[in-house]
Amino acid sequence: MAFYEQEVGVLISEDKLQARVRELAAEITRDYAGKDLTLICVLKGSAFFAIDLAKYIDLPVKLEFLGVSSYQGGTESTGEVRITTDVSKPMAGKHLLIIEDIIDTGLTMQFLLENLRARHPASLKVCTLLEKPSRARTKVDIDYKGFVIDDLFVVGYGLDFGEVYRNIPFIGVMKNK
Ligand code: 5GP
Repeated sequence: MAFYEQEVGVLISEDKLQARVRELAAEITRDYAGKDLTLICVLKGSAFFAIDLAKYIDLPVKLEFLGVSSYQGGTESTGEVRITTDVSKPMAGKHLLIIEDIIDTGLTMQFLLENLRARHPASLKVCTLLEKPSRARTKVDIDYKGFVIDDLFVVGYGLDFGEVYRNIPFIGVMKNK
């Protein structure tokens, strides 16, 4: 029995996830054909998603990692976002696609968009695996979206609860929450 089976139930199966990630990658491949695309993987939650997506995108993409902290291990947004690890190169003149795990209140993405826009990229778009529209506190335009989910606290495929459960291969919900 896997370590998480008693605590975590399946919300989106591994098969469904992988199929959707491939669809998003195909769309991105079409939209960015002929362009020099840089994926901005927002750490840590979007690491699994960003890597899978990058594998399925049929273009010579570049990968950058941007660490932000917003939740501090709890389940409620503090609204306060800060950069813990910055990208490794200047972003001016580049086609940037932000890769997020989940847009909940939208405050993190609003911060990221403002922060990256100020670096004068050639273009700036948003790709998120999950969206919880019922919790939105600010409007964010999402260019690529995997799944819309209800107001549930989810774990797995990069998403954690107190830094645990990131390495579950599906999107799950805590059974006792
Ligand atoms: P926002 O600023 O949109 O409220 O929150 C974005 C960040 O909060 C996400 O990148 C993620 O780290 C965290 N987050 C939001 N909802 C969930 C959730 O249901 N589960 C987990 N594990 N993290 C979440």
